[in-house]
Amino acid sequence: MALNLFNTLSRSVQTFAPLDPHGLKVGMYCCGPTVYDYAHIGNWRTFVFADLVRRLLEFNGYQVTHVMNITDVEDKIIKRVREQATTLPLFTGQYETAFLDDLRALGCREPHQKPRATEHIPQIIALIEKLLARGIAYQAPDGSVYFSIDKYRGCGYLYGQLLKLNFDEMRAGERVKSDEYAKESIADFALWKTRVPEDGSVYWPSPFGDGRPGWHIECSAMSTSILGDTFDLHLGGEDLVFPHHEDEIAQSEGATGKPFVKFWLHGAHLLVEGKKMSKSLGNYFTLRDLQAKGYTGREVRYLLLSAHYRETFNFTLEGLAGAKSALARIDECVAKLRELAAGTVASPDAELVTAFQAALNEDLNISAAWGTVFEWVRRTNRALAENSLLVAEAASALAAWEKINAVLGIGLAAEAEAPPELTALIIERQNARKNKDFKRSDEIRDQLKAQGWVIEDSPKGQRLKKL
Ligand code: AMP
Ligand code: ZN
Repeated sequence: MALNLFNTLSRSVQTFAPLDPHGLKVGMYCCGPTVYDYAHIGNWRTFVFADLVRRLLEFNGYQVTHVMNITDVEDKIIKRVREQATTLPLFTGQYETAFLDDLRALGCREPHQKPRATEHIPQIIALIEKLLARGIAYQAPDGSVYFSIDKYRGCGYLYGQLLKLNFDEMRAGERVKSDEYAKESIADFALWKTRVPEDGSVYWPSPFGDGRPGWHIECSAMSTSILGDTFDLHLGGEDLVFPHHEDEIAQSEGATGKPFVKFWLHGAHLLVEGKKMSKSLGNYFTLRDLQAKGYTGREVRYLLLSAHYRETFNFTLEGLAGAKSALARIDECVAKLRELAAGTVASPDAELVTAFQAALNEDLNISAAWGTVFEWVRRTNRALAENSLLVAEAASALAAWEKINAVLGIGLAAEAEAPPELTALIIERQNARKNKDFKRSDEIRDQLKAQGWVIEDSPKGQRLKKL
C-alpha cells in the first residue's frame, strides 16, 4: 500500500519511497527541543506528530533510524545560564531529563539517537571549514563566521527551496547574528559566533577563534554526520521552515554539493484562542501543568493526535476533557473484548487494519483513521450488547486493535498496562483457578499486589488494575 506524504519541498503530496536501494531503511531527523525550559504542549504537538510518522513508517515495514537532536547551546540558553549564574551542563541537563520523562509519558517511542549539539562541535567546525573552503562562508571583522547567501546563489544554488523568497524586495545585504529572524530580513547568517564577554564560560576553541556555533549549523552537522549527506525525511514545526530549515539546506548542500533531504514534513501549530501557543506570549501549558489538573499523558497525546497535522487547532481544557471520555469509550470496549476473548489467540481482523492503514497512508488522514476506530467501537458495543459476538471474533478484533494501537500509541487501559513479565503470572493464576488450586492463585495475587497490581475476578475472567 502506497504511503503518500505532503512534501514542503514540492508543495504537493508525493508517494514516499526511501533512498535505500533495497527500499527498507529510512533515515528521519526531527529538530529536537531547545532545552532552556520545560517543553509546552505546542512543542509536544510537533514531537507527537514526529512519533506518529515514525510509527506509521514502521507499520509500513520500514526500518527507521529516528534522530532527534537536543539543542543544548544557542542564544536563549546562554542568556539564561548567565542570568542564573549557573553552568551550561547543569542548566540544560535538568530540562533534558524533564523532556525525556515527558516524552515517555506521552507514549512516544524513544528516538534511536539523541545527539547533543555540544557533543558535535568537531563536526560543526568541519562543516564550517568546508563552506569556507568553497568560498560560501567568510569571517567578518569581529571574528564570527557567516554564510554568504550571494556566494551560495552565485554557485548556482537556490536559496528559498521551502518557500518563495523575493530577494529584490527583501535583501538588505547586511548580516544577522541572532538565531531567529524573519524572512523580511534575509541576510547572511552566523555559522560561528565569536566569543563575547556575555558568553561567560560557554565557548569552544576553533580554527576561527574561540566561540560557539549558530543554531542552524548544529542541525546540519548532527543530521548529516549520523544519517549521511542525503537522507529521507526531515521534520519540524511550521515555524522552522524559515529561516532554520532553509538555512540547514543551504549549509548542507553548499558544503556537500548533494541534495540534503528528500521529504520535508512540517506540522501546524497548536493555538490558544487563535494564537500560537508560545513561551513569549505566555499562553502555554506544559505537560506537567495538565498532569497537575488530573490528566494523563495518553489523554494529552490523544488530543494532540485528534487533528490533522497540517491544520492548526485550538487547545482548550474542554477539548482535553473530551479526549478523556473518548479514550474511556475505547478502553471500555477493549476491556469487554478481553473478557470475552479470555486469552484466545486469533489473527487480526484484516479489514479493520487495512481500512485504518489506508486512512493514515493518505498523508496521515487522522480523522478518517479515528473514524475507522470509533465505527469499530460502535459496531463492537452493539454486538456485545446483543451477545452476538463470538469468542474468536473478539480475539480477532483485539489482535487488530493491538496493531492499530502500535501506530496510535495511546497505550491501553490501566488494566492492560502490566509489564510483560506479569503476563505469565496472570496466565498461571488463571490455570490455578481452573484447577481449583486456590492456594497458588492467592499466592500469585499477593505477588502481584507486592508489585503494585490488584487483580479482580469476575465470572468472565480476571482484570488487572494498578493499585
Ligand atoms: P523549540 O524547543 O522552541 O526549538 O521548539 C521545538 C519544536 O516545537 C519545534 O519543532 C517548533 O516548531 C515546535 N513548536 C513550537 N511552538 C509550537 C506550537 N505552538 N505548536 C506546534 N509546534 C510548536
Ligand atoms: Zn533543527
